Amino acid sequence: MQIRTRLTLQFTGIVALISLLAHLSIYFFAFQYRKNQFTERLADKAITTAELLLKVDQITPELLNIYNQYNKDILHKECIAVFNYRNEEVYSSNKFIHFNPDWTLLNEVRAYKEISWQEGEFEIVGVVYTTKNNRFVVLAGGIDIWGNQNLLYIRNILFTSYIIILLVVMIAGWIFSGRALKPIKAIISEVNTISATNLSTRLDEGNRKDELARLSSTFNGMLDRLENAFRLQKSFVANASHELKNPLTIIRSQIELSLLRERSPEEYRKTLQSVLEDMKNLASISDRLMQLTQLSADDLRIQFEPVRLDDLMWELTTECSQKHPEAVIKFAPELPDDADTLIVQGDKHLLHLAILNLIENGLKFSNPPAVELTLKVTASGIVIQIMDKGIGIQKDDLKNIFQPFYRGNNTSSVSGHGIGLSIVQRIVTLHGMKIDVNSTPGKGTTFTVSIPRS
Ligand code: ADP
Repeated sequence: MQIRTRLTLQFTGIVALISLLAHLSIYFFAFQYRKNQFTERLADKAITTAELLLKVDQITPELLNIYNQYNKDILHKECIAVFNYRNEEVYSSNKFIHFNPDWTLLNEVRAYKEISWQEGEFEIVGVVYTTKNNRFVVLAGGIDIWGNQNLLYIRNILFTSYIIILLVVMIAGWIFSGRALKPIKAIISEVNTISATNLSTRLDEGNRKDELARLSSTFNGMLDRLENAFRLQKSFVANASHELKNPLTIIRSQIELSLLRERSPEEYRKTLQSVLEDMKNLASISDRLMQLTQLSADDLRIQFEPVRLDDLMWELTTECSQKHPEAVIKFAPELPDDADTLIVQGDKHLLHLAILNLIENGLKFSNPPAVELTLKVTASGIVIQIMDKGIGIQKDDLKNIFQPFYRGNNTSSVSGHGIGLSIVQRIVTLHGMKIDVNSTPGKGTTFTVSIPRS
């Protein structure tokens, strides 16, 4: 069911219910009012008749009947009857109507002083009238034609007004819900025009205040993120192809060059050696790209386990010293009294990869290759620093170095692909850690990894 139809039905339903209650209560009070009025009138007539008949000696039943015939205030099918204490009818104003009450009913009137009841359209009131030596029961009955007609009239008016109200509310609800949903329709048609080819399109945010404007701006925010992700993905693919194309072009031209004419075995060996180096380079690029892609996967699950950071740093120091025998790697931890404070929850393999990247960068960008590593526990957590006294990073490059494939302007003499720091940052973020860089061109660089106290 469309929202417009649902809103209209709900709105109409609520108004129908409220108005039904209002109409029913109006009818109920009108009904009660008529009944009370008529009962009161019957009781008055009963008392007046009894008084005239029983108190005024000059008035006989015949005289009273004559008086009643000429009375203008007579009810339809009116009948007033008086019964004595022996339940004998001593007077009846209408010879065509007889109450014939049984004695229990008369006794009930005597017990309650006044009661009323209804027999079909005929309404009867019984009252007690006491004289010095007798206790009479007076029954007065009649049909309230005028009151019932009024009531019927009121009922018809209420019914008609109820139907009219429902129709008006339904039409108004349909118009108003249509108006309220118009901007949503506009949003739907605007959104329908957006595809991968025009992701830069943005929705109209109108007055920027109401909920629909907020919906549009939320949608625009999502489009911003999508466009950004799309752009990043495009540039990632372009950069990755570029990085892979370079060594492939070199390999191809080397092979083509050596095939131009007959070469000596020594020359072939040299060419193959060079091709092998380029192949290794290619394999390393594809390895790093794989790592970055895996780390960027949305459903990445990291295996958290307790990792003792001083052990990890010692392992890395030994590993890097063996891998780069020419390099100087110093590790000077400030160990706390409680060694357990150096244990963090993390993926040991990923943490190892991140710090290894930072150490190898430090070695790569310093001459002679040397890095200094520190580890200390502070009030806010654990801090690891990787410092070198190498070429440093220029101010303009600092904000971009964590972008995939970004390489500093001063790195042309150093090999690399600009992927390492993106991997490091992704790992650090996945662990809820933080990485900062401080660098002075020509003087050196310090990377600081802060691990908050969990
Ligand atoms: P790569 O080292 O392959 O260029 P990275 O992503 O590891 O790629 O680093 C990105 C850039 O950050 C480098 O090109 C370099 O400009 C800068 N950089 C990173 N580490 C250092 C460092 N220790 N000293 C100087 N520059 C660095």
